[in-house]
Order: sequence, then C-alpha cells, then structure tokens
Amino acid sequence: MTREEELAANLRDVRERVALACRQAGRDPGEVTLVAVTKTFPASDVRLLSGLGVTDVGENRDQEAAPKAAACGDLPLVWHFVGALQTNKVASVVRYAKFVHSVDRPRLVEAISREAVKQGREVTCLVQVSLDPPGSSGRSGVEPEDLLALADRITTAPGLRLGGIMAVAPLGADPAPAFERLAGYAEKVRTVHSDAGIISAGMSGDLKEAIACGATHVRIGTALLGGRRAIVG
Ligand SMILES: *Cc1c(COP(=O)(O)O)cnc(C)c1O
Repeated sequence: MTREEELAANLRDVRERVALACRQAGRDPGEVTLVAVTKTFPASDVRLLSGLGVTDVGENRDQEAAPKAAACGDLPLVWHFVGALQTNKVASVVRYAKFVHSVDRPRLVEAISREAVKQGREVTCLVQVSLDPPGSSGRSGVEPEDLLALADRITTAPGLRLGGIMAVAPLGADPAPAFERLAGYAEKVRTVHSDAGIISAGMSGDLKEAIACGATHVRIGTALLGGRRAIVG
C-alpha cells in the first residue's frame, strides 16, 4: 500500500466515525470540521492529505509548523495552531495560522493582536479552557472562572476575532462528563458573544464523545496519520 492509499483509507475511516457520531447525536456532519493534526509528519503527508480533500491542518510546535506551512504554501489549506504558544513564537505563527486554538492568557492575546495588526492579518482565537480537576499538575488552559474575561479581551483586541473555545479531555478520565462541562462553558460564551460558536474538542480517541457534546472542530492526528514517535522537549 502506498502512503497515499494508507492516508486515503484512514481519512475514510475518520470521516465515517465523524458521520456516525453525528448521526447518533442528531447532528449534521457538515457542522463538524476535521482538523488534521500533522505534527511529527512531513510536509509530503500534508500535501497528500490536501489532495485527498483535507482543508484544515493543525500543528502544535512553531519550529516544525513554520517550515511545513511554507513548503505547502501553494496548497489551499487553513492552518490551525493547537499547542502551547510562547510569546516569542507569535510573530512566526501569525504568518501562517488563521486559527490559534490555545489562547490561555492575556499576554498572549496582546502579543497575537500586535502581530496580527502589524502583518495585516486577522487571527481567529479560541480560548483554551482547562477541563482538569483544580490543582492537578501540567494543566493547560484557563480556569473556567477566567474564561469570560479572556474571551472579552479577545473581542476588543485589534486584528483578532473570537472564534469560541477549545479543550483537551483530562488524561486518564472519562471524556464525556468533561466535554459536557465544556458545552456549558461554550454556551456561557455564546450568551455574551453570539457568533463565537466554535467548540474545538475531540481527538482520535474521543471524537465521538466530543461530537455528542457539540464539538464543531475535531483535531485528529493518530487516526489519520498513524502513531507518532515520542518527541522530547
Ligand atoms: C496531538 C494533538 C491532537 C491530536 O491527537 P491524536 O490523539 O493523535 O488524534 C489534538 N489536539 C492537540 C492539542 C494535540 O496536541
């Protein structure tokens, strides 16, 4: 089997899983955007996926994403930055990413805004909200009680658009109740910002639970591209 055939088969499987989850949730599959998370895989895979109809690509490290996005600059792709973002990487990320899913602090909002204005781009920001139990280590995302304040800040920042919210299910716990909480947070945000309708949730292992809770963007790596080698650092 060629790599293209392998990716085509994986893509078919993932689209079927998305369609089934939508059917079970009484939702239209057209409401769910598949973001192919291509981290650790080469630009040649991105090119193949694009040829197979994938329109949205996600990456979590600028060092890897910037050259990959440049190598794929001729393709009609929307790039999503989904990983922890340091402010010193913002200028680079804004050059290729239309979406940043991982906005988790005011300083990052200011930095993305400044660069977006400078580069004449509009960046759609999602607030990453923590679904981990309070006090657990290695959490990422804002505390739920800080979500609205950060969302407000994005809506008033020049060059930015508030898209909605993003989360990762807690490690080693049932994703369903966590995604239900996430749906509640999304509703709160939408009450104030009615067009911030994006819910970015669901990965290879929990896309069904995420779609049941209203996910509009699923971020799929392993199920599409295969297993990743561990990356240190
Ligand atoms: C790697 C990654 C994914 C994809 O995870 P898989 O389990 O491989 O599908 C999704 N979201 C984020 C933030 C990631 O870093």
